[in-house]
Amino acid sequence: MKTLREFVKPFRIDDGAGFRLKDFDPADTNALKSKEHAAEILEDGIARLAELQDKLYAQDQWAVLVILQGMDGAGKDSTVKHVMSGVNPMGCSAIGFKVPSEEELQHDYLWRTTRFLPARGSIGIFNRSYYEEVLVVRVHPEALEREKLPKELVTDKIWQERYEDINAHELYLSHNGIVILKFFLNLSQKEQKKRFLKRLDEPEKNWKFQLSDVQERQYWDDYMSAYEKMVRNTSTGHAPWHVVPADHKWFAHVVVAETIIDALEKLDLDYPKLDAERRAELKKARAFLEHEK
Ligand code: AMP
Ligand code: MG
Repeated sequence: MKTLREFVKPFRIDDGAGFRLKDFDPADTNALKSKEHAAEILEDGIARLAELQDKLYAQDQWAVLVILQGMDGAGKDSTVKHVMSGVNPMGCSAIGFKVPSEEELQHDYLWRTTRFLPARGSIGIFNRSYYEEVLVVRVHPEALEREKLPKELVTDKIWQERYEDINAHELYLSHNGIVILKFFLNLSQKEQKKRFLKRLDEPEKNWKFQLSDVQERQYWDDYMSAYEKMVRNTSTGHAPWHVVPADHKWFAHVVVAETIIDALEKLDLDYPKLDAERRAELKKARAFLEHEK
């Protein structure tokens, strides 16, 4: 039996050169054959994640930034809900990025996400991110027009410039102790249709449904091309993309959980060691409590 680490490795892209989306099957479940087995692994993973997060928080040095991207219905929300279900909310933040507001459009595009970067000791989740700037904005030129950029800066090099700027930004963050893990939840068009129909059928899911989500399906190929170029151009050793098969939510959750665990384990986290002075202080505190009337 492969270890979980080996098992999630094929989805990690450290160097995007030559990446082709068609080599990645959205319905892949690797060696994992059943939902039940996945549930067991996830349960165990959630407990390990909680322990690691406790140390991350106590050590107060590293931060972890988890970026989730994917088409509507790919399971970004449910991944956050399931994978992070055991972590202490004190050491965790999650934020979703929508169509930019008027205020956000008054600034450079990294402004709105930078404000929500995780603090030391914590895990921050971006549900969508600055990557929308090379995805939806690339697919819909009118979104770029709304960004009020000086005309001479909008050239056919803009996407390449954005990849370079994003890579530089992520390198800077990594030099500052922020570990970046990026997940593209790779959903098939067929499975998206099934999930949309479910959103229409089930009253508790109706709120999630927007007509525009369905209309976006006509741009599917443009989106896939934008995703492919994004992975090719922004997969680096310090901020790899993980192309997660997302047609089976239970499998996607295991891959995301194990990837985060693996990254935390590599940090060699531990509780801060006490120096002699601190130990003497604790001794005094104990004596104080024991002599209390
Ligand atoms: P949802 O994630 O379903 O709440 O939808 C959020 C919507 O905001 C999606 O349609 C995104 O494409 C859109 N969105 C997010 N970031 C941007 C951006 N920078 N520019 C334009 N649209 C965006
Ligand atoms: Mg939506």
